[in-house]
Amino acid sequence: MPRIAYVNGRYVPHRDATVHIEDRGYQFADGVYEVVALLKGKMIDKARHLDRLERSLEALSLDIPLSRRAMEFVLGQVVRRNRIANGLIYIQVTRGVAPRNHAFPKNAKPSFVVTVRPIPSFDKQAVLAGVKVITAPDIRWKRCDIKTISLLPNAMLKQKAIEAGGFETWMTDDDGYITEGTASNAWIVTKAGELRTRKLGPNILSGITRAAVVDIAKRQGLKLDEHSFTKDDVLDAQEAFLTSATSFVKPVTHIDGQPIGDGKAGDLTTRLLEWYAEFLETGQVENG
Ligand code: PMP
Repeated sequence: MPRIAYVNGRYVPHRDATVHIEDRGYQFADGVYEVVALLKGKMIDKARHLDRLERSLEALSLDIPLSRRAMEFVLGQVVRRNRIANGLIYIQVTRGVAPRNHAFPKNAKPSFVVTVRPIPSFDKQAVLAGVKVITAPDIRWKRCDIKTISLLPNAMLKQKAIEAGGFETWMTDDDGYITEGTASNAWIVTKAGELRTRKLGPNILSGITRAAVVDIAKRQGLKLDEHSFTKDDVLDAQEAFLTSATSFVKPVTHIDGQPIGDGKAGDLTTRLLEWYAEFLETGQVENG
């Protein structure tokens, strides 16, 4: 069965899904995106993802091309036409096609693209193996709260992690505090059992999985401190993990080659992963 993509009002075979060379996404990275996990046919946290998409569009003064209902309809259609139960839905909106000029065009029509690709079903054991991170200076711009398609620094730093045998780079600000990963939010569990993740602000993305884990932590009565931490804090921590729509809750076992805690998935991380898996399954988490 051919893969189907949605491009500007049409459902087309993936191989024929194209936009023009003067699309401002191609020339200026003038656009925003979202990635939504699809598990057993259900879009995880769809409303929060679409809310964030609207916030990103607004931040770039980009007119929303479709109503929320129309957008949800298109997402449903793309999933249905691709017959995928477990996958990642990719949504991208750019300012559209216009003669190359930095200033925003007056009459360009935003380009709106949706694709979906399959992923393996959720495998708790595989996730529990954990991953290694490296650190590097955060070389991105000052509006990392906008989910723009301008991801070159993220791609460069992710590549650096892969070349070092790691999974992710935890980026550090000028004061040595970790901002986030190139495609995920960063967390630690201190020796006192307190969960820490950086406070929301312009230098990190407001992760949807981060928000779900914050909800879980509050519901379970865990100690949560939305506060920055350094690499030294990570090395002093009991556990570390990262969150994203594609990674879920992933234990982080090493940083720059040094073990965190006992160098294995931590107890609280494992419980958070279980609670998050329950949330994925049912949309709710029982009180602890
Ligand atoms: N930070 C960055 C820079 C990201 O690209 C992502 C992934 N979109 C995240 C954090 C995690 O966000 P979410 O949980 O919404 O996937």
